[in-house]
Amino acid sequence: MIWNTDYETLPRDELRALQGQRLGSLVDALYRRVPFYRAKMDAMGVKPHDIQGIGDLEKLPLTTKDEMRDVYPYGLLAVDLKEIVEIHTSSGTTGKPVVDAYTAGDIEVWSEVMARTLATGGTGRHDIVQNAFGYGLFTGGLGVHYGARKIGATVIPISGGNTKRQLAILQDFKSTVLTCTPSYSLYLAEAAREEGLDMRSLGVKAGFFGAEPWSETMRKEIEEKLHLLAIDIYGLTEIIGPGVASECEHQNGLHIFEDHFYPEVIDTKTGKVLPDGEKGELVITTLTKEGSPLLRYRTRDITYLDRSPCPCGRTSVRMHRVLGRTDDMLIIRGVNVFPSQIEEVILKVEGVEPHYQLVVERRDNLDELEVQVEMNEKLFSDEIKILERTEKAIEAELYATLNIHTRVKLVEPKAIARSEGKAKRVIDKRTL
Ligand SMILES: [Zn+2]
Repeated sequence: MIWNTDYETLPRDELRALQGQRLGSLVDALYRRVPFYRAKMDAMGVKPHDIQGIGDLEKLPLTTKDEMRDVYPYGLLAVDLKEIVEIHTSSGTTGKPVVDAYTAGDIEVWSEVMARTLATGGTGRHDIVQNAFGYGLFTGGLGVHYGARKIGATVIPISGGNTKRQLAILQDFKSTVLTCTPSYSLYLAEAAREEGLDMRSLGVKAGFFGAEPWSETMRKEIEEKLHLLAIDIYGLTEIIGPGVASECEHQNGLHIFEDHFYPEVIDTKTGKVLPDGEKGELVITTLTKEGSPLLRYRTRDITYLDRSPCPCGRTSVRMHRVLGRTDDMLIIRGVNVFPSQIEEVILKVEGVEPHYQLVVERRDNLDELEVQVEMNEKLFSDEIKILERTEKAIEAELYATLNIHTRVKLVEPKAIARSEGKAKRVIDKRTL
């Protein structure tokens, strides 16, 4: 189902003209009202009148997360503070948080793009959306909330955690749509099984999962265990929260709502824009944002773009599901390794659960990667010999994929801590 056919199926030449127009107004506003951007543009010798269309985007400066932190909290506001109606921030676990300040117009855009997102999985007025994304400064909860309200669906703002209550509400309120992180959905499925609750009997038809990278194998696992259509959604606090992009029912990449968010993929080292199909860092320009707009924001997410037509009829460019983050990319003995690559391999193995952790250590100046994977009850009750054979088989598979030797350790069921939000996949013990 397409929420806004006017914009989501706009012919590409018209879309490009619209993007160019919107970029022009954005650059004008930023140059006049945000000293941070005026200084950056002046340093590059570029003036607003140099930007005549979307093709001129590359003349403009990139923006990094560190720069956003430097001007914390209000240094990127493009309107008076009294125009701001809501503020969200990132978690700030690794330094000062980054701030997203919304005008009433920004909230309206957020509701619109989230309505488009939820509609991709068929959410309509009659649906009951159990929103298990966290409410608060984190954007997941309210983003889904605004989108569901816009559609006219019923929202249950249960927020994250409290798994027993999640299951009770799924049953009692007959929720038809579930939203949470992908890892939490599997945790819910596991808890349901323990309570003897058959997910098939519940009637949840679609799930929208995001806020952490996940693999195609994990999708299959989720769809089998929860009996629903699992849709990958994408967004980040700096840009608007969720609502930047979403898969459609064809699950062949995420449609970027590019009338609002213009994507580029760059080479992480040189900053040069890469052609479609080449992997690099996703960069986004907020074409319509009023409160805290960003020019060419480096998301640190690794993906590539695909402009081939999609059977759903949407004309927007699609991004491949996020392959990893430039900051959670592990460099093991000089090889770039993303947790999602490892996940893809281990989840194909018989007898293991989708719960794993990567532990990196440095011994005698050599990096060692230990992959801890949970066994299911059945494998756990098998002979040691069989466990060892399984470990060796996973090691061989990982070597074939990554070209590095890893140590695989099967751990007993439930040994790996469960998360109610984003899963912690990597423990890096190296001190450099
Ligand atoms: Zn599509």
